[in-house]
Amino acid sequence: MADDAEDQDMPDIEDESPAQVEDEADSRFSIRNPVGLIFNVRNLRRVVQILFLLGINGYLFAAWFGQDAITEFWTTIGQALPTIPIIAPLEAPFAVMAGSFDAMQRVMTSGIFPFFTLGAMVIILTVLGRAACGWVCPIGTIHDFSALASRSKVRPSPGTEKELRRFKAYVFALVMFFASWVGISVVLGSAQSIRNALGIFADAAFDPINPAYILFVKIPELVESGFWPTSIDTLWRIGYWTPLFWLQITFVALIVIGSKWFPRWFCRWVCPAGWFYSVFSRSALIGIGRNPALCTPDVCNTCEVVCPMNIRIRRFPYQHLYSPDCIMCLECKSHCPNGAIEIRFS
Ligand code: SF4
Ligand code: SF4
Repeated sequence: MADDAEDQDMPDIEDESPAQVEDEADSRFSIRNPVGLIFNVRNLRRVVQILFLLGINGYLFAAWFGQDAITEFWTTIGQALPTIPIIAPLEAPFAVMAGSFDAMQRVMTSGIFPFFTLGAMVIILTVLGRAACGWVCPIGTIHDFSALASRSKVRPSPGTEKELRRFKAYVFALVMFFASWVGISVVLGSAQSIRNALGIFADAAFDPINPAYILFVKIPELVESGFWPTSIDTLWRIGYWTPLFWLQITFVALIVIGSKWFPRWFCRWVCPAGWFYSVFSRSALIGIGRNPALCTPDVCNTCEVVCPMNIRIRRFPYQHLYSPDCIMCLECKSHCPNGAIEIRFS
């Protein structure tokens, strides 16, 4: 249903540049509500994102800064929410929380069906939708902050966007195929030969291209083993990096640099976890809607210009934006010049 909605025709409106839209939003805040320049939902989201980026790796506070009380705070949250629908590998040395998809892969490759992880994940997604992608996921955060200074966003045509979005479903199918194969072989007692054949893809097939794994597991490993340069004098250490790690670090750099033109491109086109989460989130209890009395879709497309997921918001019913790609970031709500975007509970 949601995909069909995006195929509907709407009048073409020339896109305002992201810079224009930002300036207009700022001037609205400063005229009507100067306090809103500081205390608004956009800034609140950025604060929450930074807190979770640090909190997900909460043991950092104890290991590097000796702040046991802060670590304790985050481990308490980690115990209450053992997995959340984001990407975050549990085996990261400083991790207090794991992504549901990361945990699911690990449980499956140990020969167990992930009932508990799946159950918790489905409950969160059917209530909050993909809000964790928009507010908590560390890779989403890195994407958003990399795109902050961007004044030159590119919006692929609806057809191209649709084709590109399909890719993450293929990645998901491949990852699940490997995880099920290893899991079944564990049950049958023939796991070793399969693990040998699959190599780095055996325990969690997504990990080699999982930016959270590269940042929070691979880099700390290099720091630990002394192969991470810590100054100009130690730059020679990069000569010991494997070709695979060079590819992985290039991939992470592409996420950061590419965000300038294509906000959240990894989330939109590659992340298999995001695709899986979208299956359960499209009819979430909490979502976005438009007030038909205020929305002027024939002459305005500001919400679509600012949407980091490139959702054609005006094509969806006013009542509820049933898009599997909505991450509840509320950028559309913050920027709508008519105040037409509302949070809906249905
Ligand atoms: S789509 Fe993937 S990378 Fe993006 S925010 Fe969601 S879980 Fe994180
Ligand atoms: S539709 Fe609005 S809330 Fe959803 S992803 Fe786009 S900008 Fe964010």
